[in-house]
Amino acid sequence: ITVSDLVDTSYKRIHEVEDKVHAFLTLDEENARAKAKELDSKTDATAKLFGIPAGIKDNIVTKGLRTTCASQFLRNFEDPLYDATVVEKLNQEKSVTIGKLNMDEFAMGSSNENSGFTPTRNPWNTDYVPGGSSGGSAAAVAAGEVLFSLGSDTGGSIRQPAAFCGVVGLKPTYGLVSRFGLVAFASSLDQIGPLTRTVEDNARVLEVIAGHDPMDSTSANVEVPSYTEALTGDVKGLKIAVPKEYLAEGVNPEVKEAVLAALKVYESLGATWDEVSLPHSKYAVATYYLLSSSEASANLSRFDGVRYGVRSENAENMIDMFKKSRSEGFGEEVKRRIMLGTFALSSGYYDAYYKKAQKVRTLIKNDFEKIFKEYDVVIGPTTPTPAFKVGEKINDPLTMYANDILTIPVNLAGVPGISIPCGLSPEGLPIGLQIIGKHFDERTVFRAAHAFE
Ligand code: GLN
Repeated sequence: ITVSDLVDTSYKRIHEVEDKVHAFLTLDEENARAKAKELDSKTDATAKLFGIPAGIKDNIVTKGLRTTCASQFLRNFEDPLYDATVVEKLNQEKSVTIGKLNMDEFAMGSSNENSGFTPTRNPWNTDYVPGGSSGGSAAAVAAGEVLFSLGSDTGGSIRQPAAFCGVVGLKPTYGLVSRFGLVAFASSLDQIGPLTRTVEDNARVLEVIAGHDPMDSTSANVEVPSYTEALTGDVKGLKIAVPKEYLAEGVNPEVKEAVLAALKVYESLGATWDEVSLPHSKYAVATYYLLSSSEASANLSRFDGVRYGVRSENAENMIDMFKKSRSEGFGEEVKRRIMLGTFALSSGYYDAYYKKAQKVRTLIKNDFEKIFKEYDVVIGPTTPTPAFKVGEKINDPLTMYANDILTIPVNLAGVPGISIPCGLSPEGLPIGLQIIGKHFDERTVFRAAHAFE
């Protein structure tokens, strides 16, 4: 099989399903085919991802390839000047970028319905959402359009769509993967990670994109171990913690059942599990929306109609231009977050909201630390329910936010978490099992995930 064959299969599939799935915002067919030809002319094919077709979430900057963050504000950002570090690393290992993937605008959302273009649909059943914000990244892998994709996860945006689309999605430890070239949403929470069909593929991609980057001041200076070597299939003696809050009210019976069945599998493989508590997790959603919106309000101030993207045409002066460009360019959800964040950071409210949320964040982090003194991994569902219907939650932001209740604590604590498929609901929709590990212990997370698979 040649690289050209692989790339050809990828575009064939895309042309077959895209009018139903809408996973892509931009395709790069001409360049991808040219690159495939070039790779095929090489005799040396030792690169780790040689010729593998990949999709990139559209908030990750790609040199010369349109990068919109699914925002109308950036619809004309056709020609970024550089590649994000992760893209550079993929290029070094010779994967082929097929195109840029749809998402909720600026990664704010859980259903892809906040895309400023057109929402992605769940390939399992197009009446349902694919999850978000990396819904395009999950759907493209699930529909067989690419072999892997990159997403970003601030509060669940890799794991939740992976769960809804029945694929494997990892949010790495904060600082393991460079954020240079990732358009910032909430800088203290954002992480890039791989979405794949198998745990092994996921480990292979992480091996390529992880590692210290001087261009990202929060990038950790740690050795990248071999993740694939950790996939031994052996979980004898593994100590699993199951937070009672993760199987409590609000979690669908079918989801709970699938997770309990998964725990039985672990038992049969020689692992043990105990019920534990993450007592502060009930504050996680409120804490997250305060902190992430605060950071977003600062990060998105760079979109002023001067430096990036679309400029309003009928402005009378500079301030008016800022105002009109932002009013016209941003979607509703993005505006909601900017207003919430600006309020939480304003003088007089800072102590009551932002500062308090920071303190609760520490408590949530401590909850995990305490558990990890005794246990190797934490296991629970990725989401309280399988995918919901398009339109079902869009008019109720609070219900939409609550869907992230099981993924958000992981970002607040900065630890790694993976979602792997663990069964189907009676409607035939995938259910995700979430495995959470210690800081920089992706090896154990992968080992546990692989043994179940
Ligand atoms: N759904 C969450 C939000 O809307 C998480 C998004 C993300 O992880 N980028 O903020």
